[in-house]
Order: sequence, then structure tokens, then C-alpha cells
Amino acid sequence: MFVHELIQQGTPSSIAFHGKDYVTYAEFSQQVEKYRNYFYMSGIRTGENVGLFSRNSVDFVYSYMAIVSLGAVVVPINFQLTARETAFIIKDAKMKQLVTMERLDLDDELAQLGYAQEVKQLVLPDVRQDVEHQRLFAAPAISDEFDENRPCVIIYTSGTTGSPKGAVLSHKNLVSNAKAFGEVLPVTAGDNVLCVLPMYHCFAWTCAILNALLCGASITVLEAFAPKETIAAIKEHGVTVIYGVPPMYNLLTRVGQRDDLAGVKLLISGGASLPEKVAIQFADKYGIKILEGYGLSEASPVVALNPVEKPKYCSIGKALPGLEVTVVDEQGQSLPPGVVGEIVVRGPTVMLGYFNLPDETAKAMKDGWLHTGDLAYQDAEGYFFVVDRLKDLIIANGENIYPREIEELLYAYPGIIEASVIGVPDQLRGQVARAYIVLAEGQHFDKKAVREYLQSNIAAYKIPRDFIVVSALPKNQTGKILKRVLREQAG
Ligand code: AMP
Repeated sequence: MFVHELIQQGTPSSIAFHGKDYVTYAEFSQQVEKYRNYFYMSGIRTGENVGLFSRNSVDFVYSYMAIVSLGAVVVPINFQLTARETAFIIKDAKMKQLVTMERLDLDDELAQLGYAQEVKQLVLPDVRQDVEHQRLFAAPAISDEFDENRPCVIIYTSGTTGSPKGAVLSHKNLVSNAKAFGEVLPVTAGDNVLCVLPMYHCFAWTCAILNALLCGASITVLEAFAPKETIAAIKEHGVTVIYGVPPMYNLLTRVGQRDDLAGVKLLISGGASLPEKVAIQFADKYGIKILEGYGLSEASPVVALNPVEKPKYCSIGKALPGLEVTVVDEQGQSLPPGVVGEIVVRGPTVMLGYFNLPDETAKAMKDGWLHTGDLAYQDAEGYFFVVDRLKDLIIANGENIYPREIEELLYAYPGIIEASVIGVPDQLRGQVARAYIVLAEGQHFDKKAVREYLQSNIAAYKIPRDFIVVSALPKNQTGKILKRVLREQAG
């Protein structure tokens, strides 16, 4: 099955999109067809990479579906990137056309990168106008040789570590993930799914769009997350399923009333670890448990999810059906329950590879197993617990310190609303831990008391040497705390 075929799953008269746009599945199909014809007339052809630079909107969805239905490959670009970062992706993916929400001034940056190819910009508001008023000729069907193993999308991974690489995902990768995810999560045609996470990220795209379409559900599209506006939209449109990231749930516990989410039946968190305190406070306030899941762009993205009937706090749940997920040591040997190692994944959702980077692909994939770079252990019941990212591990005097363990304790301390721990160089010990802390409004930081609290919970070598109070932590759009930025600042 192709990704664009998912638009046929709802009944023609059922609602595909709620919110600013109120679109039936029949209208959705017609719009995608028009955009498809338009893009074909603009010269987009099978196999080429086409940029998509836009905030969340139904135009994003029409454009994406139209481009991939021509057999071309979508390259979604985080609209917050600078001209320089955007130009890097354009050059790397060898793009000739870019669908964008506004005209971008990229000429200087592209010239500096030595990219001689002309990049045509198709600006969405103009596209919409033209699509409605121009006479469009029907684009031909894609060739029979085009199959579901062909690339559908290239996702430049969030760049929380190193320079961005393009993970190439096929139609099969994405549809398999949406389906496997659907086997675990009871989303139905009667549901209304909130898409507030950015669509350029695989989490929102596969879960809040593709899985929702597969189930024939409605989708409420919001451009960005703001707690009060989001709650208002949830109530107005009757949202029943929410996909979010931990900082979003953290903020929702601070605003809103218990019955604000009365109509919501499923809440899923992913993208970063959900601190236990946030999960508990949320459940106390709204009377509903958040289900934590785990994934990465390279796996389309969901790898594991908590079962609805028995979620566990601090766990990312169990492997999705059809995926092999295990924890291995440095030699690639499977480890028994309780032992920490790297999570590896194999199955139909694992990417084709990194675009034009065979060496990076070979490093990430061995015998079909995707090495995630995340450390975890499994319990006797098959639930996985992410301990930390391999790259965030701190080694002090040869001892492993998992920042997450300290962060969980800091989150649980009264008055602390966010915390992040990194390793900083130390002459004697190699590295020591440093904590960055965000306090709730009006709170005072008592370093001595926090130290004593940590000492009563963890070994002395794990206690951060410095505690730095900041007003906010650097984060990307999907709520991941950017430890790379903290490390750069720390020197
Ligand atoms: P991305 O490819 O941008 O989606 O980033 C994937 C990374 O996010 C993973 O490799 C993990 O490090 C992190 N991640 C996603 N979900 C979780 C989770 N539930 N707990 C801990 N880390 C997570």
C-alpha cells in the first residue's frame, strides 16, 4: 500500500479535518488530486526530492500526499530553521523545487554552499489560489514499476546530535508503522485526533495523520501548541486522541480544569522521556493516564508503546507488533532482562538508509538491525525502560552516570519544574555532572537542601558538582531538550 492511498480509508462524507478547515474525506481526495495535477504541471516528477517547508495546515497534508502520489519524495523541513540550515538540506537532497508557506530568501546561502541548481519555490497561498482558478490537466498515473519499497520521504533528523542526516523512508516503512501502531492503539472512525505536533516530524505525521487516516478518523490540525488555546480546541472540536511531547503535558498540568479533557480517551507521549512526576501529576489532575511510547525517525518512528490495558510509569512499553526489538551489548549480543544495553530494532518500519551516506548507513544498520544509540533494559514482562542516550552518558572516574536518573529525582523535588543534566570536563575525573534547573514561579533554590536530598537517594559520585538555575532550557520543536546546546554553552 502507498502512503497516499490512506486518503481513501474514510467514508466520503465523514470528516477528515476539523478546525479552521472543515473537510470531508471526499473533498480531501479531490484537493489532493488537484494539487497533484498542479505539481505535475510545475514539473515535479517521479523520483525527485521536493522540499516542504510549512507550519501545520491542511495544505501541508494536500501537498505531501500530492507529491508522493506522483512518485516524488517529500523532504519536510523544520520551518524554524535558518536560511543557512535550510540551504544545507536543499543542497544535500539535491532539490529543484520547494513547496513553502512563504517565499524564502535563500540565494546567498545556496551560492555560498556552491549550489548552482535553480530552486523553484511554490508558495502555498499562491498554490491554493492557482489550484482553485487555473485549468489543470490530469497528471498521469505513476508507472507500474513504482512499488511500495520506493522512497516516500527523507527526514532530516532533528539534529540533537551532530549534523543532520536524511533518513530515507519508503511507503512501506510508513504504512507498516501506521498499521502496527493501530494494532496496539484502539483508534476508530469515531475518533478525533489532535495534530498539534509539527507535521514535518515523523511522530506527528505517522501517528496523528497516517494512523488517523487509516482508521478513517477525523483530525484536528493546530498550527502550534499553546496550553489554553489547545484546551479550547480540544473541547470545541471534540478531540478524543492526543499525541504530545513531555513539555506539552507538563504545561497542561499547570493550566486547565479536571473536566477539560473529559472527552479524551487516549493520550500518548513520545519524542523524549516522560518524567514520572509529570505523568503522575497529569493523571492526578485529569484522571487519565498518559501512555508513553518510544521511537526515532529512522524507524518511521514508533518502536515501542505501552499497552492501554497495563501501562507502566517510566517505561516505553513493549515492542510494536511485527518489529524485533532487543537490547544488546557492544558485541551485538542480546542481554538478559535487567541488564542495560543499546536498543536495536529490525523490521518493516526500519529506514532504507541515510540519503547518500553509505558509511553512516553501515554504522547505523548491521544485518538489518538499526542501532538506535539509546540505552535501555527490559523487565521480565517485556517492557522496555530507556535509561539514556548513549551519547549523553557521563563517565566520571570510570563510573557510568545516567543523567536521566538524576533528572527524575530533580523533577520530583518540590519547586523544580524542569531539569537537565550534562557531563562537563573535569581534570581529575574526566567528567562530572552539571545540572540545569528551571524553578516554578516565585520559588527559591536551596542548593544545600537539594544536595542533601540527592545524597539520600543516589551515590555521591553521581551528584552534580554545579547547579545552574535558568529561566528556560533550550528545546527543539518536538520538545527534546537540546543537551548539545547546553554542552556547547558549557564549553
Ligand atoms: P527523532 O528521530 O527526532 O524522533 O529522535 C529520536 C530520539 O528521541 C530517540 O533516539 C530517543 O533518544 C528519543 N526518544 C524518543 N522517545 C523517547 C522516550 N519515550 N524516552 C526516551 N527517549 C526518547
